[in-house]
Amino acid sequence: MKTAIIGGGLAGLTCAWYLQQAGAAYDLFEADARPGGNLLSLNLPEGYLLEAGPNSLQLSPELAELFDELGLADQVQDTAAVGQRRYVLRGGRYRELPGSPPALLRSGFFSLRAKWRLLRELLTPAARPNPDETVAEFFTRRFGPEIVDYAVSPFVAGIYAGDPAQLLLRHTFPQLAALEQQHGSVLRGLIKSGTGTGRRRVVTLRNGVQALTDALAARLAHCHPGAPVSGLARAADGTYTLRAAGAEQGPYTHLVLALPAYAAAPLLAGLFQRAGAALAAVRYPAMAVVYSAYDRAAVAHPLRGFGALHPKAEGAYAAGSLWTSSLYPGRVPAGQVLFTTFVGGAQHEAAAAQPEAAQLAAVHAELARYYGISGGPRWQGRHFWPRSIPQFDAALGPARAAVEALRADNIVAVANWQAGVGVPDIVRHARGTARALAAGA
Ligand SMILES: Cc1cc2nc3c(=O)[nH]c(=O)nc-3n(C[C@H](O)[C@H](O)[C@H](O)COP(=O)(O)OP(=O)(O)OC[C@H]3O[C@@H](n4cnc5c(N)ncnc54)[C@H](O)[C@@H]3O)c2cc1C
Repeated sequence: MKTAIIGGGLAGLTCAWYLQQAGAAYDLFEADARPGGNLLSLNLPEGYLLEAGPNSLQLSPELAELFDELGLADQVQDTAAVGQRRYVLRGGRYRELPGSPPALLRSGFFSLRAKWRLLRELLTPAARPNPDETVAEFFTRRFGPEIVDYAVSPFVAGIYAGDPAQLLLRHTFPQLAALEQQHGSVLRGLIKSGTGTGRRRVVTLRNGVQALTDALAARLAHCHPGAPVSGLARAADGTYTLRAAGAEQGPYTHLVLALPAYAAAPLLAGLFQRAGAALAAVRYPAMAVVYSAYDRAAVAHPLRGFGALHPKAEGAYAAGSLWTSSLYPGRVPAGQVLFTTFVGGAQHEAAAAQPEAAQLAAVHAELARYYGISGGPRWQGRHFWPRSIPQFDAALGPARAAVEALRADNIVAVANWQAGVGVPDIVRHARGTARALAAGA
């Protein structure tokens, strides 16, 4: 048995690591000269440590174990305590979003009507399961439209670069669909099961999250960066050969797809037409990550929190900003503050398509308005993801089903479109997949 892993982002590298730990033979091919994919930390000579992809990671048991195995435990840095406070734009100013249903009932963030709808959820009977129900439809049905506009919508824009009117509940929040079915009410289910209590630590790595993928790549004996896979063939005995970096590689008994769905699609299309077409349909909206640094004294807002999200209903330009210098002090020159602002995603596609200069100017103008900033930025920069995060919408189910059917052909997928977008989801899924492969399951 020998496995080829195509793609050296977090999913592929983690899968390779656990295959190596289990003594299984593998080769990993990564298109880019730098493995890591979305984990990209930029250490600039101007004194800024920036993240282009993930900023903060929920510390799941599997992720903590991986940090230990790689000798990274002493680099784990907690997000500052103020990070528990999250703000949302409402009525043209930032207001703290209540962190739990009881806090929501006490706070003035939502109208009385919205609070009444929230309480009524306890008495709203469960509907019959509907596999096509969107996130917006589900939350409107159970909690009312105000919760959708001012909590769900900005939240899914912030995490999934998504639009709740398009994302399907069963792919995005399968646990909520299950709570409704098992307990008759989501709230009752949350209370009974204790889900949502006991928050996980939210962490980063001291020198940037890319240290995780750097450490994985450095410890892999068979990681081939700068080797894009451009072709796939299958022999009569069922084994695969790849064309990577201009040479034939293989044979391999198993293939692991650890690359974005749009990149896997053309590789599969020749051998598995249905899977190729289904994967090509998965959408990845563009996203610009804009960094803006200011003198602390020039910013009136106290910035005591994680950041602020912008509901589409408020008509803002950006999806929202992280208050990076509040979360991870020491990543900007002394006396400055840094905003990491997200422009784009499925709800803001027109903004993502604008040229860089227009985006930087629009972000500065919006920051100046909402944070009370006088004068211009000390520094601004941008990282652009032409295809950022896979959308868990109606196109995802057929893609996952088509790839699931390839198990019989010894092909599995571990990338975020299969595992879930969060770093802990990817680590858990890639580890499980590698162990099952090594065990011959
Ligand atoms: C802006 C942004 C912010 C995010 N913030 C967070 C966050 O705060 N917390 C969190 O948990 N998650 C966050 N995420 C999500 C998380 O970072 C991603 O879901 C995850 O890193 C994806 O890993 P992956 O290995 O599946 O895919 P990728 O990182 O996309 O890796 C795929 C790899 O495949 C390679 N590849 C492509 N084509 C080929 C080919 N033909 N041959 C060989 N290799 C190929 C690519 O070069 C790439 O390296 C964020 C993502 C983005 C984009």
